[in-house]
This record gives sequence, structure tokens and C-alpha cells, in this order.
Amino acid sequence: MKAVWGTNKVDIVNRVDKILLLQPGSLSIERGEQPGGATARVKKDMGVAGESSVVLIESNGRVVLIDTGFRNEMDMSSKNLELNNRHVEASLSVHGYSTKDVEEIFITHWHHDHVGNAILFPLARLRYGSSPAMAPPMLSGFLGIKNPLERLEPRTEWVPGVSVFPTPGHNEHHHSALVHYKQTVIVVAGDAIVSQSYYDHDAVWPYNGDFYSEAKAIESMREISRVADLIIPGHGHPFQSYKKATRRRELPDEADETACR
Ligand SMILES: [Zn+2]
Repeated sequence: MKAVWGTNKVDIVNRVDKILLLQPGSLSIERGEQPGGATARVKKDMGVAGESSVVLIESNGRVVLIDTGFRNEMDMSSKNLELNNRHVEASLSVHGYSTKDVEEIFITHWHHDHVGNAILFPLARLRYGSSPAMAPPMLSGFLGIKNPLERLEPRTEWVPGVSVFPTPGHNEHHHSALVHYKQTVIVVAGDAIVSQSYYDHDAVWPYNGDFYSEAKAIESMREISRVADLIIPGHGHPFQSYKKATRRRELPDEADETACR
């Protein structure tokens, strides 16, 4: 089923039954902070592990995750893998779920802090909007992920009430998820918007090696702002898309129905 898109009109076809922020994610460098240095090291010692936000959705009997998180992404020691395992199991069990309940995972992009814990859901189908030059099977092998893989068609309802759309900039293949819950349009932005401090300042996270385009990143952030009522950033708590009306006014009238296509 096709979801109808438009900046003045988001035609809500279906709604999800439940949406949970399993973990809000954390960020090593908020807007205005300096990379590196003693305070950055202390943040890490305190448990700021740079993991992505993880969202669980239940819709029409299906349980899906958007991004999986992975704490301390550079550390592949068994101790860190066990730490991740415990975090995932605890965050699921608090809400009455186990890893076996998750049928599908959508990843916003192929970065380890977003996809790394897919290894804890080996039976869940791993869905993605696009991928970098390295083919997904090679990429998932490189990351140690054995999940069945499937590319999603953008702007098509994947489960009732959920679709995905391209948000390039952070890297070339990045996608975000659009979720309809009650009367609210929620965008699970991934690193198209890493945290509210980046949204507040219209700022782009520039530190990843595969960074694609600042201009595209800013346009993706604007598109998310136009569509969303509520934004779940890649590494932080949900916040209201308070720039929605301003961003919509920036568009020429004739772009209303097509700008999001
Ligand atoms: Zn990230």
C-alpha cells in the first residue's frame, strides 16, 4: 500500500498500535562540545557509550525494531559484547519482550552503533533502504551479522503505519522511518538528526569517515522538520519538531505535494 506524501498533507493510511523508545541513545560530542580531551574521556568512563537510539514498534501483531544500537562501537571484546547483550535484554524485558519476539529490524544506515546488536536477533529479517558501495551481504559479513537481508521500497508502507524515506547527508545511503501513531507523525531520524542540540542549531554531525554532503544533510533535516510532529534523533531523547510550520512556509506552493517524493 502506498503512503501519500506531501508537505501540507500526510495521508495517514494506518497507525501503529505501540511505539516504545527502548533506549534513547547517547552522543560523544554534542553540538558546541570539543572532540577529544579529558572531559570527553570522562564522559566515556561514565558510560556515555555512543550507542544509537532503539525504537520498538508493534503493529498488527508484528514486533519490529528501528536500529539496534551498539555500545562502544570500536570495542569488539567479549566483555563489551556481553555488556551490549545485557543492555538489550534488559531494555526488552522491562517492557515484557524478549529477543525472540522481534521479527524484523529496519536500520537507518550501516554504521556499527546502529546495526551492531542485530547479532542478538539472528532470526529477525534485517531491512534497509539503501547501502554503501560494499554490497549488503559482504557488509553484514564484515560486521558479523547473519540476519536475512531485504531492501525496503522507500515511501511504501512496510508494516501498517510505517514507511521509510531517503535522508542522505550523514552518509549517502541513509534513510529515516516515518511512523504514524495516534494523531502524531513521528520520524525516527537516525543520524539525519543526531540529537536535539543539532536540530536546534541546524547543525550537521561532521565526524564520520563516510560523511557525504553538508548541503544534502541540511536538506534532509529540513524535510524531516516539515513532515514530523515528533522526532526521535539517532542519539538522544524525542523532541517536538517545533520548526515544522517555519519549514513548510519556506516551500513554494507548487512544491506542496511533491517535495517529499
Ligand atoms: Zn550513529
